[in-house]
Amino acid sequence: MAKAYKIAVLPGDGIGPEVMAEALKVMAKISSTGGVIFEYSEQLVGGAAIDAKGKALPAETVAACEASDAILFGSVGGPKWEKLPPDEQPERAALLPIRKHFGLFANLRPAICYPELTSSSPVRPDIVAGGFDVLCVRELTGGLYFGPKRTENLPDGDVLAVDEMVYKKSEIVRIAHVAFKAARARKKKLLSVDKANVVRNSVLWRETMKEIATQYPDVELAHMYVDNAAMQLIKMPREIDVFVTENLFGDILSDEMGAITGSLGMLASASLGKPRADGTYFGLFEPSGGTAPDIAGKGIANPIAQILSAALLLRFALGMEKEAAAIEAAVRTVIESGLRTGDIFTGAAGTRKVGTREMGDAVVGAL
Ligand code: NAD
Repeated sequence: MAKAYKIAVLPGDGIGPEVMAEALKVMAKISSTGGVIFEYSEQLVGGAAIDAKGKALPAETVAACEASDAILFGSVGGPKWEKLPPDEQPERAALLPIRKHFGLFANLRPAICYPELTSSSPVRPDIVAGGFDVLCVRELTGGLYFGPKRTENLPDGDVLAVDEMVYKKSEIVRIAHVAFKAARARKKKLLSVDKANVVRNSVLWRETMKEIATQYPDVELAHMYVDNAAMQLIKMPREIDVFVTENLFGDILSDEMGAITGSLGMLASASLGKPRADGTYFGLFEPSGGTAPDIAGKGIANPIAQILSAALLLRFALGMEKEAAAIEAAVRTVIESGLRTGDIFTGAAGTRKVGTREMGDAVVGAL
């Protein structure tokens, strides 16, 4: 009998619904090949939820996510909701509470620059020749962003602002395991990025990484200070396979990596919670980019980031490695065939500009 999985589908705003439709076509193709049924619960989130229900994250959306094996997320936000108070804005009021509610502590962002798309990268051609594939693993629920904060007016008239960077060893241990397992499934090389020459959190981070490394003797662990890593990732992206780092450093470095791939429309991400007994994770899977209001509704957005997010969902949440790899291979085939949405179209010989739907259909066709 076919195995059934429940998936909460949260398209969100802007290009979210357009690119989600293409990812669901790809998922339909996977289930049509047999052995698996996807039961979707499509829910409102972000600006669309504010308009319809007065809240960016309605209770029924949370309930549907709780009842699911994974969340496939589009993106939220846009000019229409920018005047709301910061705490009511779609991203802050929807995405952060979901991460917190489900304890999604591990953020995985594959930064892939395909050999055919290196001309989109702002980095020198000889550095990115042949493309690169770096996996960024970022701790997502600790550190500076979640530590105590205060702003204080001092008696002398000055103003003090404090954000505490807080990590418990257990929080470092759990992200270390995610990173070592990811590295083990790739080239068995893990780079841990910290600032252990200055920051106490980083001293604990480095000691803990070394300790956990003893459980993964097949994975080679190296360490680098974050300032150096920011340079080396740009100077030699082909030399680094997987890196792991804390929340703030990861926020900055993963965006840097996204930028040097040259195309936001191609980048997927996975935010994972505690591993289940079978090694899979509950998680939220979404494109790295936002709602692209400048092109929303025009049918020209690149659906690949959303499609690759669905592939990550299959791999990490459902343990369907073969199917995930098949989607990734289909995307490569389509890129090799020369199809390009506007964001990755340079007019190069042998390429053709297509819209969102045609790109989605091509991936389905290549599967
Ligand atoms: P953005 O990522 O939406 O867009 C930046 C640029 O990249 C735009 O030119 C856009 O057209 C392009 N782009 C992004 N995704 C693309 C795709 N799939 N295909 C083709 N081009 C694509 O960033 P922004 O303009 O700073 O933000 C717009 C809105 O999205 C804001 O409201 C922001 O808060 C929100 N946002 C949401 C998320 C999220 O939901 N996770 C993340 C980032 C931004």
